[in-house]
Amino acid sequence: MGFFTKDADKDKWKDKYLKLLDEQQHATETESEKQALLCKTIIRLSLAASGFDAQLDQHLQSIRDHLEQGIDSNTLKQDLENFTAVLDDINKVSSGASSRTGLLFDFLLRQYTSTEHQAALQALKTASENSETINHEQLFGTILAIINTDLTTTAITNQIDIKIVSNQLLRLLDGIDIPTVFSQQAQTVKQELMTVNSPTPFQAVLDKSIDLLLKVKQHSQLERQDIDKFLTHITEQLTELGQTVHGASESALESELMRSKLDQCVSEHVEALQISSSNATKLETLKEIINERLMCITLEIQEHTQKETVHRKKTQLQLEELTLKVKEMEAESRELKLKLELASAQALRDALTGLPNRLAYEERLQNEFARWKRYHMPLSLIIWDIDLFKRINDEFGHKFGDEVLMTISKKLSEHCRETDFISRFGGEEFTMLLPNTDKQMAVRLANQLRYIIEQTNFTFNGKQFTPITISCGVTEFIDDDTQETAFERADNALYKAKQQGRNLCCHD
Ligand code: GH3
Ligand code: MG
Ligand code: MG
Repeated sequence: MGFFTKDADKDKWKDKYLKLLDEQQHATETESEKQALLCKTIIRLSLAASGFDAQLDQHLQSIRDHLEQGIDSNTLKQDLENFTAVLDDINKVSSGASSRTGLLFDFLLRQYTSTEHQAALQALKTASENSETINHEQLFGTILAIINTDLTTTAITNQIDIKIVSNQLLRLLDGIDIPTVFSQQAQTVKQELMTVNSPTPFQAVLDKSIDLLLKVKQHSQLERQDIDKFLTHITEQLTELGQTVHGASESALESELMRSKLDQCVSEHVEALQISSSNATKLETLKEIINERLMCITLEIQEHTQKETVHRKKTQLQLEELTLKVKEMEAESRELKLKLELASAQALRDALTGLPNRLAYEERLQNEFARWKRYHMPLSLIIWDIDLFKRINDEFGHKFGDEVLMTISKKLSEHCRETDFISRFGGEEFTMLLPNTDKQMAVRLANQLRYIIEQTNFTFNGKQFTPITISCGVTEFIDDDTQETAFERADNALYKAKQQGRNLCCHD
């Protein structure tokens, strides 16, 4: 019994020992997690505190450098003591600690823009301003607690400049061909992208933009599948048609064979008749022979005619079937042609203004450029841009902005010459290719168009608007030009027009 008790005690101690080990390990793990968190926190804090004082920055950098190799409490202690010493010096020198913490709060308020962060930081700032003495450790601890809430949103807000991303998304949406079914949705997304300026709605607009882009991708895949399906169908039909044609020619061959068999048969009978008649001595016998042979020939011909009739009917049926199939195919290929024409017309047109789009411009430029290289007739390029269009949108709404785009497109295309090629290059920019036109003539034409727009009355909901103007850059293709170099020159000239006050046509 005693033996068992001893053993049980031993087990109890073993359990306790193992438990203790577990706890210790857990404690060590928690400790190292805490250390890692502490490391991260100190690094974040040191980053947030950088930029206020060059002297402090040096110490902050040293703290970060050391922490990157893990926490070594002695080094960290030393670093923090050095840092605190410099901080104390600065505090003594400065008229009060509040100016330093004021800077820190300014920085933090700019960095952490969410309403919650702003409210918490403002409250802390006011509290620290009203307090006589500042305990930096406590203050930093509280700041840390505030900025550590909802790290993900903070990170997004910190890293993303909403305006830049919105503009990139707008450019992306302008650059792709949006199928007509999505044009309404695209307009809404674009409008939201143009006006969004805080992170939470931006997240929603971002989701909407991605959703739209995915839909457009899916749509074009479906369209491709549709055309593929149709082409497979046409191929099947063609194969079937080929087989029917083959059948028809086979039946023609069969008919020819039947005909020559009959010919052969009749001539055999006639030959036999000739032989028999030349051998016949009596009229009676001759008559019998002739009758017999004629009967045979008649039977052969009857049989042939019957076969021919069946055959003709078969062939006729085949022909009718063939005609029907050809008609069906004609109708289907007409439909396909229309579909393809429509699809390619849509791919080359801008949905809002109806003008050729950037893709169409690039296609045309290829042609005009090749012609210019071959014949060396002058070729000019104009890049138009509506002046202060963003303000028009902002002040009068996106819908009015769209109306302006449509009116200007109409005016420009109505007043340029038939040989000139105008396109909506993107957003509020248009390009014009002017074959057989030198720079001087192009500038003259550009100024006429600019004046026409200046004189146009833009009305919306019955209201009239002050002049809306456009500016442009003009260039003429010169030796050694590529399509890009000429474009760049016109773009620079446009930039000059904007710099010089807008409502201007400049050239290189
Ligand atoms: P600048 O005179 O220097 O050209 O100034 P801007 O305001 O015209 O130029 P900016 O590039 O800043 O703005 C162009 C604006 O055009 C931005 C965008 O809101 C607007 N925009 C682009 N596409 C469309 C569209 O399809 N419809 C509407 N309504 N606005 C558009
Ligand atoms: Mg522009
Ligand atoms: Mg503009």
